Amino acid sequence: MTTVEGIVLKERSVGEQDKFIDILTKESGVLEISVKGAKKINGRSGSSTQLLAYSRFCIDKRGSYLYLNSAEPIHIFYGLRDSLAKISLASYFAEVMRSCIKPEAQNGDIMRLLLNCLHYLETGERDEKLLKAVFELRLMSEIGYMPDIVACRSCGAFEPEELYFCMESGGFYCSDCFENESEQNYMKIKLPVLSAVRHIVLADFSRLFNFRVSDGTQQQLSELAEQYLLIHLERGFGTLDFYKTL
Ligand SMILES: [Zn+2]
Repeated sequence: MTTVEGIVLKERSVGEQDKFIDILTKESGVLEISVKGAKKINGRSGSSTQLLAYSRFCIDKRGSYLYLNSAEPIHIFYGLRDSLAKISLASYFAEVMRSCIKPEAQNGDIMRLLLNCLHYLETGERDEKLLKAVFELRLMSEIGYMPDIVACRSCGAFEPEELYFCMESGGFYCSDCFENESEQNYMKIKLPVLSAVRHIVLADFSRLFNFRVSDGTQQQLSELAEQYLLIHLERGFGTLDFYKTL
């Protein structure tokens, strides 16, 4: 029997009594666990296997299958359920994680990113749109799609007032160097957006959520972060479509 800490990314019923849960763990990526008699479990153990619960799971391994022995909640994020927008955004975070985290991956920073985002979403201490952009861009960086935001790819300008961010390559050109014939998918942005992207991608975790942007910058940042994630993961997300209808 092994014990792991994890966040429930998905639950799905099997038959009358059982369910499977997918959990994100620090040491072993995403694990699929069979929960026998899930409908009969209530109280602490029941809430610890709900969507987005952060719990300690005791697991038995039989063959290549994992079975839940018992579970203890660490934090349930009840506050997310007060608001449809919050629970929808959190569900999007979970769906994205499930789609791009491979089993057996080492995910200390990724787990921390999700826990931090859920915490700030629950407490309302950070703007929702900002959290979404931080989640999207930082996650992409952590899984190997870090944008190349050091300097203009042509002249090396470090802080151009206006620039063109290229979604596919993740690089940018200043307005003097940009030739739109050679790039199909780009976004024209201003320097404060670039500074925010640099912060999200490069900042130490302890400082990651400590920044503010103006409304105009926020809007461009949100658009850029979402597009960047969707283009590189090459798929859409039902939870995102739903969140955007709210
Ligand atoms: Zn340039």
